[in-house]
Amino acid sequence: MSTTFEVATEGAGVMTASDLEQENAFEGTVGDHTVKDARMECRGVDVYYGEKRAIRNVSLDIGKREVVSMIGPSGCGKSTFLRCLNRMNDEIPGCRVTGTIKLDGVEIYDKKLEVVPLRAQVGMVFQKPNPFPKSIYENIAYGPRIHGIANNKAELEELVEQSLHKAGLWDEVKDQLDQPGTDLSGGQQQRLCIARTISVSPEVILMDEPCSALDPIATAKIEELIDELRENFSIAIVTHSMQQAARVSQRTAYFHLGDLVEVGETNQIFTSPNHKLTEDYITGRFG
Ligand code: ADP
Repeated sequence: MSTTFEVATEGAGVMTASDLEQENAFEGTVGDHTVKDARMECRGVDVYYGEKRAIRNVSLDIGKREVVSMIGPSGCGKSTFLRCLNRMNDEIPGCRVTGTIKLDGVEIYDKKLEVVPLRAQVGMVFQKPNPFPKSIYENIAYGPRIHGIANNKAELEELVEQSLHKAGLWDEVKDQLDQPGTDLSGGQQQRLCIARTISVSPEVILMDEPCSALDPIATAKIEELIDELRENFSIAIVTHSMQQAARVSQRTAYFHLGDLVEVGETNQIFTSPNHKLTEDYITGRFG
């Protein structure tokens, strides 16, 4: 049988003979999916869209003060997995998540758990910067206000400034806080969205291809920022750029057709992968 893999395209949902071969052949994740200092622990996670299973039996820890990148061909389930981590898949009709996902030891899919505070604890930065159609100041102040984080105007102003500092944007925008966030450049908008995420004191920041709409200079700034943010947050990033994964992350998870094929130290994954599928992907044989 052919060993070439047809890359699944977004929404394709059609399995090729070689996909089926892979499905039957998969024997479990290679590498240690656990870390000593876990912030999030995912075990046996399956996600279905209707009848179709998009990821199966994924177990992975997200450690404190680390960046974990998720790589793999388009359609392999990276974003689906990422969205599980703050129950973003709840918004998709027909989507079902099974398995367990814990944040600081608490099951996030517990029916009693409120989703709004969870999404502050596990914030998300999207592919396309999505500032609110409001001023720069209001983009940041909104979250702390609705979560009751700042007690008065002075505290709120302080929080806005701190968040913009941490996102490396303060110096560029401090004199135009009343201007629309949407007037900023793409890279600045993305840093504004990161500042907005930070403003509600998350523990984990999820990033879904945060640089794919940005030019190389803006991308470099975001990558530097990710490295700085790691000191205070756990970060899980989906990226289609292997170079980016190598630059920003300490651990890398390789997904293929809904399976977490291999996970390990980023350096090991890119220099001496232990699974043939990982090797094929990083050497450009497919994907
Ligand atoms: P990746 O992020 O690796 O490109 P996705 O997580 O977006 O992969 O998709 C994994 C699989 O789930 C794909 O087959 C995709 O078509 C399917 N999928 C993703 N989102 C939806 C959705 N909202 N409804 C139905 N199927 C979806």
